[in-house]
Amino acid sequence: MEFYHEMSMRFKDLPRSYKLKKFKKNINVPDITKTPGTFDGAQFSFKDILETMAKKEIEENKNYYNDNIIMVKVSGDGAKYSRTSSFCLLSFTFIRDGSNLSVLDVHSIAAIKAHESYEAFRDGFADVFASINQLIASPQITVDGKNYRVKIVFCADYKFLLLMMGMKAANSKHSCIWCTISESNRHDMSKTAEKRTLQSIKTSATNGELGCKNAPLLNLEPDDIICDELHLLLRVMDILIQALINTAKAYDANEAHRLGQRSIKATEGPLIQSLVKTISECGVHFYVWEDKKEDELQWPSIMGPAKKKLLKYLPPEMDKCQPSGMVTDIKTLWNDFSTIYSNISSRTPSYTSDQLQGQGIKWIESFTDFSKNHPSSDGYDPEKVSPYMHLMVKHVPTMMGIYGNIKQFSCQAVEKKNDDAKKTFFHGSNKWDPATDMLKRGFQKNSLRHCERRKRPFEKQDDLWWYKGGIQESRRKIPRISRQ
Ligand SMILES: [Zn+2]
Repeated sequence: MEFYHEMSMRFKDLPRSYKLKKFKKNINVPDITKTPGTFDGAQFSFKDILETMAKKEIEENKNYYNDNIIMVKVSGDGAKYSRTSSFCLLSFTFIRDGSNLSVLDVHSIAAIKAHESYEAFRDGFADVFASINQLIASPQITVDGKNYRVKIVFCADYKFLLLMMGMKAANSKHSCIWCTISESNRHDMSKTAEKRTLQSIKTSATNGELGCKNAPLLNLEPDDIICDELHLLLRVMDILIQALINTAKAYDANEAHRLGQRSIKATEGPLIQSLVKTISECGVHFYVWEDKKEDELQWPSIMGPAKKKLLKYLPPEMDKCQPSGMVTDIKTLWNDFSTIYSNISSRTPSYTSDQLQGQGIKWIESFTDFSKNHPSSDGYDPEKVSPYMHLMVKHVPTMMGIYGNIKQFSCQAVEKKNDDAKKTFFHGSNKWDPATDMLKRGFQKNSLRHCERRKRPFEKQDDLWWYKGGIQESRRKIPRISRQ
């Protein structure tokens, strides 16, 4: 705004900045009320905001809604904003398959100042959840005199989903939302478990069994609960990267022992060092340090785009940084995961859901066989098969069978929305009433979406420059004054 003000002082034919401020202030924001319960929080009426936004959505995309069905994805997320404050946010998006969702398509519903917990969701989101449940029970809204059938799906990361369904944490014995598989059978692809339904979750919660302890907050069938594909990538990659590090560390220790060297620091092992170098050469900021308490090597968290980079560029370089006897199998494991993930994250998957499941099962089997075939490896044991891996193999193919693809439900735009809310908290709010400011700002921004400049599509084409160290190389040439 300040920049605009300066510009408008210089160029007199631009509209005056105070007029713009006034215009923004005059945007009609629907009523915001306090969320129920003891937590600070603000909310729109879900029914009202859904109807308001549906009207706009249908006006803008008339042809898409000819069959009078509206699909609404509700998302939730919790994030720590500062040492003392965390916020949980709920938002919704209209799902139009085939179109890329931007942050302006995500509409906030409510924000509460609380850590993620069942009690916070139950109390703070009570009104919103009640009206979503009402909509699930009678799935219809009227827009401009016309009736539309509403289909609600819910998408969030695993932790949020478990809390919302009243279930125990992801490391509990029965932590799958979609079936009752136990932790000990998760790696065994020949074992099947009973599929959960909303009714069975409710019954288990009453009996306090099978990982359920509280009544689910939304009356959604597990088929309508969808996992976010990006979180799936992140968590599976964590396990694969951990295995690379552990295996290199074990190899270094064995080699030192074999050569009769006195033990060296784990971070200084030759294979660990080449692993760090190889990963850095893929253009990912990476180093390791020793955690004395856990006796494990730690590494900085790697974000989604960097993990995608590794999945693409690390496998061909594996022979530089893993024990030679295992390289072929590790490469296969990474490449096969890459193929499976590219199908999961595609709008037009090339595998059918059965093929995808077949590939997934084969992948888990080669993962669990790895430790048998390579006893000196570390990190590929059957216990490492995580809830996300199980989900990827056993339930994602079913979701894709029902909805065609799960990319359309991706939470990337929602995460951007949450970043915006965070920005509002730090820079756009005087902290007197931050939750309300977040909802207000978000709504104003979405209302002005038609004014937004359409960005020129840009694709990074020069692989050598963007991903193979070109950009890092050129940055290194700039003299660093503060550290000579
Ligand atoms: Zn399951």
